Formats: sequence, C-alpha cells, structure tokens
Amino acid sequence: MATSSSDLVTHLKACNIFVGVDVKYYMSIINDIENGKLEMTNSSLENAKINRVKDVLSDIKRGKRTTLKPLEFECNHCGGNVRFYSRAQEYSCLECKAKVTAHADLMPKGTLVSKRFARIRVQLHNELDELWRTGEMTRNEVYQKLSKKISHHPSMAAHIGNVSTNEDVALYYHAIIQLRSESIVKQ
Ligand SMILES: [Zn+2]
Repeated sequence: MATSSSDLVTHLKACNIFVGVDVKYYMSIINDIENGKLEMTNSSLENAKINRVKDVLSDIKRGKRTTLKPLEFECNHCGGNVRFYSRAQEYSCLECKAKVTAHADLMPKGTLVSKRFARIRVQLHNELDELWRTGEMTRNEVYQKLSKKISHHPSMAAHIGNVSTNEDVALYYHAIIQLRSESIVKQ
C-alpha cells in the first residue's frame, strides 16, 4: 500500500524526529520510490538526502524506529569529505571549509557554500527584498515569479540556498533584473 503523508508524520512523531522535517520533500521522494520513478542524481549531497528518505521509508514499512544520523556526502566544490558539527548544527568541508547549516532533522539547508558565495546569497536576498518592499509586487508574488523564471533549471529548485556556481548567480541576477523591469512596466 502506498505510504501517505500522515503515515510519514505519525512515524516521525513517534520517533521524536518530526521537528524540522520537510514533509513535502520526503513525500516527493517516497512517491517516486513507490512509483518506481526514483532516479539518483549526480550530486553526492542530493543522493545522501534521497538515501535518508529511503531509510525512513524502510523503517516505516518494517515498523522500526528511526534514529537520525548526519548525512554522509562529498563537498560540491572540491569533492572533499564533509563532516557534521553538532554544536554549530552545520556541515563543513574538511578541505575547502565550505559550509552549510542543517535543519533539525540534519538535512542540509541547501548546498555547501564558500564564504564568497555566502555573501552573494545575502546580496541576492537583499535584491529580492527590495523588489517587494519598494515595488508593486508582494513578497509571495516576487518568489512565485522568480521560481517560474528559473524553474527550467531543475538543479536550482528556486532556492537561493542552492546558489553555488557562477552560472547560478548569473541565472538569479538575470531573473531579478527581468522582475524589476516587469515591476516598472506595471506602474
Ligand atoms: Zn570542499
């Protein structure tokens, strides 16, 4: 029988690991698994996330308790080993020191980011904030339109937390500039 989101939530709550879980993400992977459509990616991090969901699903099926461990994956910048630091609640690459913080369920909040890209992500957020603070669009409209403009890039998933290459940055800036011009035309 197909696993429903209430099966998932019930299991997570029973194991005391419900807080911080992105139920929508888990369910999209679970549906793919159960429909035989699951494909692994070429990202070590994405595959680790998929494997986490697989493990949870197999625990649900076997009625086994799930204990969360940090994910194991390679750095998306340099391929180095990544370690989880529980005090800072973040993953950090042992080689290049790129970092990403984690949700309460130890899923990383995006990809590992170097200091430089961390600054760029803040800038992108600021640019977007300015659009809805000063323009015609609400915050939701800004994010919806942005996500439409970049949704043909599956790796991005419309998340500034996933911006980690120069190409991603260019894509985002381009979308923001388009949004800005649309907002001016409306006036
Ligand atoms: Zn690295």
